[in-house]
Amino acid sequence: MPVAGNYFFGKDKMGDINTLRKTKEILNRYNIKANKRFGQNFLIDDNILSKIIDVADIKENELVIEIGPGLGNLSEYILLNSTYALFIEIDNNMIKVLGDRLSRYNNYKLVNEDLLKIDIDSYIEEIENNRNISFTNVKVIANLPYYITTPILFKLLQNSKRINEIVVMVQKEVAQRMIAKPKTKDYGILTLMVEYLTNSEIMIDVPRSSFIPAPNVDSAVIKLVKNDKYKIENEDVLFKLIHKAFAQRRKKMVNSLVSNKFMDLSKEDIESILNKSGISINARAEELSLNDYLNITKEIK
Ligand code: SAH
Repeated sequence: MPVAGNYFFGKDKMGDINTLRKTKEILNRYNIKANKRFGQNFLIDDNILSKIIDVADIKENELVIEIGPGLGNLSEYILLNSTYALFIEIDNNMIKVLGDRLSRYNNYKLVNEDLLKIDIDSYIEEIENNRNISFTNVKVIANLPYYITTPILFKLLQNSKRINEIVVMVQKEVAQRMIAKPKTKDYGILTLMVEYLTNSEIMIDVPRSSFIPAPNVDSAVIKLVKNDKYKIENEDVLFKLIHKAFAQRRKKMVNSLVSNKFMDLSKEDIESILNKSGISINARAEELSLNDYLNITKEIK
């Protein structure tokens, strides 16, 4: 049964699209400019756009969620290659554009909301109920607004039980932080959270010239696939530990944890926990691996 009335399913249907020309046309026709406040940089390189679709490897009966569809440059590629899509866009200037541009498709829902303020899973459930489908998998594909990349990623990773994969454009510097090694300046909260929650890989390098307006930094597309391999019961404690340890990353971790009131433990308590976990009491946050953080968390009852 054709699940969502999508007549286009399949790859290579974008041959005739000139996204640069279309973007200029739309900006002109609607008399709009990219809005800095919402981190708008429109992706205009068709080669990169189709690579993103390849990397996402969308299967039939999967739901694709795009955060920040903007003028619809990536959205149109998504619609041509997926059973159903959910678009979440904060800027109401984009909503009219998207409605017009995507009017020939019927396999999507467009929501005018701030991603950080909504319960994503309830939207997924609503679509499933209304369309009488149950999606086999939920993937996020997005060219994220750079000023809130980290909160968006944490929300997608922590607040949805349904999302399993995330293919996103981020600043190159953020991509490097995700895959950093201990004892480097890039290593930190983002590294450890991403390592704990996902398998991550940098998939595409994207030069700044692929956008209008061109941002001041180069970008990269990363793929995050959720996994449970490290899953521990008191993960709230792990998250707190990581955040408080890196609150003052240059200090000894013990001191950072005490001055930032980690679980209200005393210096002696923390030193004893480190000893039991086989970790030096002189260690700094950036010297410890995810396994070290997991071992410490397990010692905290
Ligand atoms: N996907 C488009 C636009 C990317 S620019 C393209 O690749 O060309 C980033 C988009 O995210 C903008 O449309 C911006 O309005 C939107 N956005 C910014 N903050 C958002 C938020 N909190 N929730 C949802 N969308 C947001």
